[in-house]
Amino acid sequence: MKITDIRTAEVYGHGYSTYVRVYTDEGLTGTGECIHGGAGCPALIRDLKHLVIGENPLNVDMLFEKMRRAHVFDGALAGNMVTAMTGIEIALWDLTGKALGVPIYQLLGGKFRDRVRLYCDSHAGRDASPESYAQRAREVVALGFGALKFDVDDARSRYRSDRWNWTAPPGEVAQMVERVAAVREAIGPEVELAIDMHGRYDTQSGIRVAQAMAPFALMWLEEPVPPENVAAMREVKRNSPVPICAGENLYLRWGFRDLLEQQAVDIIMPDIPKCGGLSECRKIATMAETYYIPLAPHNVCGPLGTMASAHVCASIPNFQVLEWHWVDRPHWHDLVTVDQPVIQDSAVVLTDKPGIGVELNEEGVRRHLRPGTELFAAD
Ligand SMILES: [Mg+2]
Repeated sequence: MKITDIRTAEVYGHGYSTYVRVYTDEGLTGTGECIHGGAGCPALIRDLKHLVIGENPLNVDMLFEKMRRAHVFDGALAGNMVTAMTGIEIALWDLTGKALGVPIYQLLGGKFRDRVRLYCDSHAGRDASPESYAQRAREVVALGFGALKFDVDDARSRYRSDRWNWTAPPGEVAQMVERVAAVREAIGPEVELAIDMHGRYDTQSGIRVAQAMAPFALMWLEEPVPPENVAAMREVKRNSPVPICAGENLYLRWGFRDLLEQQAVDIIMPDIPKCGGLSECRKIATMAETYYIPLAPHNVCGPLGTMASAHVCASIPNFQVLEWHWVDRPHWHDLVTVDQPVIQDSAVVLTDKPGIGVELNEEGVRRHLRPGTELFAAD
């Protein structure tokens, strides 16, 4: 079997995802989803495809490494070049699973679990008041979620004297505490709660907020400082009474190496359909395992990318929980055709179908294409 073409489609969900379809001379196709590649992702994939056309699609790792080595000078260390390669990689796994008649998790070494537990990330409800956060938290728990995440960083906070510096004044820290306290009060002690700061604060602010979170038994505090300075992240972690999680904007094994070696976090959160794909994240998970660090992957993909991520989450021992960010996006159900819902009782349920195990509903996908673009158009 040989690869004959690769085509893309851009679909609106949580921002734009790029769907990637790999075609072969035997008529078999594989489809992947990558995200956060920006508007340039389809163009990068067009540029990458000459490296894989004519190749055997089952040599997934070799083809990924071929693309990576060919583009080291063009951004293949981190960023949207890696994301474009990731979209192709996930489509190749879907194709390989279909060619061999097995689900992807089987190709990754089999599964530790049938259900991949989700946490629901959502914004506060009507406004940013503590009561609005609490109300939203109650709504999400009523949907059956046992783990939630909320954002507390607020560049428009009235306590801010300046929108550019990264220092949280005492009033802003108190505002964060009020919101988190309201959520914890609303959900009780047993529902797990993560709080995200989006890497928008300086080290002293990160430490102050982490210490203020001590009473709320957080599942984690996410990116209190930006991710690119590992020493600063470690400084926060060493002074934090709650677990620190980071890594949604890091790429490939090398992007996580320092974070792990320095033990600068308690949990890592690679974005699987962005940072290198299924094989790469399996390797990142193995590295993390040697430091006793679990994975809680970042994920804002639709059902195809979420299910692809779930194959990795099922195949590693150190999986903690996977993000789901579509609670306000009912068109989740438009995008794929399935025999059973992708999500059941707040978990992704794996099937024994070959490949990723879900197929795009092309009619549904067409309704959410980027305006002016087509579904898997030929060049
Ligand atoms: Mg985050």
